[in-house]
Amino acid sequence: MADQKTDPVYHREGQLYAHTTTLSSMAPLSSLPASTQPLFKPPTDTTKTPYIVTCPSTIFHAQGGGQPSDVGTMTLAAPGPHGNDATFTVRQVRKVDPAGAILHLGTFEPEPEQPQPQLGLGLQVRQAVHVPTRVLHSRLHTAGHVVGLAIHLLSRAGEAGLPRDLSDGKASHYPGAAFVENVGLIPGAAKAGIQDKVDELVARDLGVAICFWTGEEARDKCIGGLDGAAVGAGEEVRVVDIGGLGSYPCGGTHVGCLKELGRVVVRGIKRQKGISKVSYEVVDG
Ligand SMILES: [Zn+2]
Repeated sequence: MADQKTDPVYHREGQLYAHTTTLSSMAPLSSLPASTQPLFKPPTDTTKTPYIVTCPSTIFHAQGGGQPSDVGTMTLAAPGPHGNDATFTVRQVRKVDPAGAILHLGTFEPEPEQPQPQLGLGLQVRQAVHVPTRVLHSRLHTAGHVVGLAIHLLSRAGEAGLPRDLSDGKASHYPGAAFVENVGLIPGAAKAGIQDKVDELVARDLGVAICFWTGEEARDKCIGGLDGAAVGAGEEVRVVDIGGLGSYPCGGTHVGCLKELGRVVVRGIKRQKGISKVSYEVVDG
């Protein structure tokens, strides 16, 4: 299953929360190759057997790019004489490689009788992401772009005491631990100026657009270029554009416009080894 490709529907439709597809494979986590199993943390809060399910397409965001994986359910029309539906609770979603299979780890209710390696293949699957979790992840992720963009705009203009030679670094959008990093030193006194710029961008309710650009276009137009992403000839790059003011190569999910963020609060600025880390959170507006 690990060498199949999965269509990441969420790349094109980031606000699609239910989707019907089919079952490509299901197998206990323990049957995966030893190289693939460490992608997952075996769940400790259940005595049920963890399974890995794949489908030709998915709306479940796979962990990556600083964004946690989605959770939710898949409902399968069960095979066999009784025809009862089975519910698969999706707990962790991982990609095998950047363009490869997307694997869903979860548990079944009722549990399949083992061994049934071919159970239900080709069955219809109804996917449903847990909407409040997805919305929070999309808000935090988009807010990270907005904080990064605010810093970029201030830096280029030499405003709020920011140096002009800052460049984008790593980012994480996990609830309670969200931050963006910049290479260069952002003084602590710049916090209020960054907050003001973030508030201004959110108040303008800028649109968030997903574009598919050639590698060349993305390299030229994105802040920070391709950000280390390898792009093959003829391959498209998925880009998120914030109101025409800044664009970034990105595989995550986003809100449609900035008013959906609520209030983005800049929490603090820490500097270490030439890197500045700006932490933030989102609160209901
Ligand atoms: Zn993004």
